[in-house]
Amino acid sequence: MSPKFSEKRILVKSNQCVSCGLCLPHCPTYRLLKSEADSPRGRIALMNGVVNERIPLNDKFIQHMDRCLTCRACERVCPNHVEFGNLIDEARTLIANQSKFFSSNQNSVIKVLLKKLLLVKPARLELLRQFLSFLQKRRIFNWLLAFPLSKKNNLLEFISRLPSVEFPYIKAVDGKYVKSNSWGKVYLSQVQERGKVGLFLGCIARITDAATLNASIYVLNCLGYSVHIPSNQTCCGAIHQHSGELDLAASLTMQNKIAFEEAGLNIIITTSSGCSLQLLESEADMNTNSIIDINRFLATAEGWESVQIEPLLQKIFVHDPCSLRNVSGDQAYPYELISRIPGVQAIPLTNNDQCCGAAGTYFLDQPELAGMLLDEKIISITESGTKYIVTSNIGCAMHIACGLYKKNIDIEVLHPVTLLARQMGWKL
Ligand code: SF4
Ligand code: SF4
Repeated sequence: MSPKFSEKRILVKSNQCVSCGLCLPHCPTYRLLKSEADSPRGRIALMNGVVNERIPLNDKFIQHMDRCLTCRACERVCPNHVEFGNLIDEARTLIANQSKFFSSNQNSVIKVLLKKLLLVKPARLELLRQFLSFLQKRRIFNWLLAFPLSKKNNLLEFISRLPSVEFPYIKAVDGKYVKSNSWGKVYLSQVQERGKVGLFLGCIARITDAATLNASIYVLNCLGYSVHIPSNQTCCGAIHQHSGELDLAASLTMQNKIAFEEAGLNIIITTSSGCSLQLLESEADMNTNSIIDINRFLATAEGWESVQIEPLLQKIFVHDPCSLRNVSGDQAYPYELISRIPGVQAIPLTNNDQCCGAAGTYFLDQPELAGMLLDEKIISITESGTKYIVTSNIGCAMHIACGLYKKNIDIEVLHPVTLLARQMGWKL
């Protein structure tokens, strides 16, 4: 990606900002830090200053860009429709292309290894699931965390607090569900087939959120949809896109497009809203495929009249991921989905307009700010008195679950489709 292209795009888009400041009260980092340079308007002015060579591209500039969550709350409220999400990606590309500068993001060896050697290699990820489960069963993480130095490693601490790894399932010849080390190619509809859909697995989600993927397959199959899983699909590229690696993100889009097209699938269901958004925004590149979040797909799916859903007399609080709330506008669908369960009252969590701090790898790169945002969520959750928090983004779910676990708060965090599947009789 040539820096020149990024500079031109930054110039055009940043000039659309009229400095009205309407976005400022919606920006989590401005609210916490009270600094103009950590507000959307300030960041846009800094980007404009750098490409016009009025100010240098230095460590200070990088710090203000790194502190942005890419939550895009500013974009949602901007009267001039400034595309901030696009601008911040371009600014990070500019930084990544200046070889003499390395932000704290790019400087992390672990993060580079994760992005280059793991996230884009599905077969390695599949092996990692078994390895992670092995470590969890033997309580290796608890043992490691006993060392004071380990507690300072955000990634290790985060991994050690993950819920127990779940495995994919396949149907055995006798029709029973059995755990497997890998995903089946196709899961046939349990009733007369209404259609066939592709399922996008994601990278981290395929290991840490097999529960949601299993539940999605089950619900889709019960409603009459056969689910196909092309094995050559890969990471959606969101993490790469938001850390300035636009070329790599584009090549991952291409690999996914080929994987689903070769399988003849033109409806692709996603279960994590962060991945959905990345795929949707590259949909022009995905061509004929239609990317659709599971909550939205199930809102218009047919076949509900023939499924039994056990009642659940509970108030269920819903955390809105920024990707659904600020960009895709699909935030009503998770509420609709769990409201299909008789007795459920779906209630928005207080402070739903503020990011939880997960934001891709933000919780690892900016632990202090992410921790402050998470603490606010934990307060809202505990004050709600709920037993369950549902959210449709794996990043938010893991971040919030970790925060609750750390504080010994026994509240389950799960995807809306997982709760629904349970009430429809799903168990492995
Ligand atoms: S994307 Fe979020 S954190 Fe970044 S400037 Fe906009 S509102 Fe602030
Ligand atoms: S609301 Fe839009 S135009 Fe106004 S300062 Fe923010 S980004 Fe600029």
